[in-house]
Amino acid sequence: MAATLTPATETGARIMAWADTLAVHTEQPGMLTRTYLTEAHHGAAAQLTEWMQAAGMTVRRDAAGNVIGRYEGTAPDAPALLTGSHFDTVRDGGRYDGNLGVILPVACVAQWNRQGKRFPFAIEVVGFAEEEGVRFKATLLGSRAIAGTFDTNVLDNVDDSGKTMREVMRAAGFDPAGLPAAAHAREQVLAFVEVHIEQGPSA
Ligand SMILES: [Zn+2]
Repeated sequence: MAATLTPATETGARIMAWADTLAVHTEQPGMLTRTYLTEAHHGAAAQLTEWMQAAGMTVRRDAAGNVIGRYEGTAPDAPALLTGSHFDTVRDGGRYDGNLGVILPVACVAQWNRQGKRFPFAIEVVGFAEEEGVRFKATLLGSRAIAGTFDTNVLDNVDDSGKTMREVMRAAGFDPAGLPAAAHAREQVLAFVEVHIEQGPSA
């Protein structure tokens, strides 16, 4: 059976398998809850990094904790097509919500990399560290950092245990002072596209 799979079918199967693997990184057994900079969040970031590297991308983390994989184009320093989504979740979220938008392009890049295909632009797949606002009651932290619109007032927001976002970021090795440098220069961005499934609990 496997021998008859087309590359597209194979990539599709890989995406579905990866979604299952990534869903293991949860704070609550039996459901998927993964909030900003928790152990589950670190585990998911490490897994995404591994898949991106295996797909031929160089991977970096920015000061917000975004996981950014870059697949170089034919010209060095070419502007990048940005794609990606968030890998934090709401409480009892669906495994495809956000996560699909990260793993799908990584699987596509892995396929192109195997075929030796390069484009006249780079591709950057961004795993946005935070969108849902569950832990610190502030949303879109990852994309705001990249857009250069991060509101530093939210660094003083506290989680349920009374820790500030600033403390939690520092403890995880992310320096809030580096947030301005996380912004992407307009001329380095070709476009941004996102695959996104809005999904509630169940899977
Ligand atoms: Zn979402």
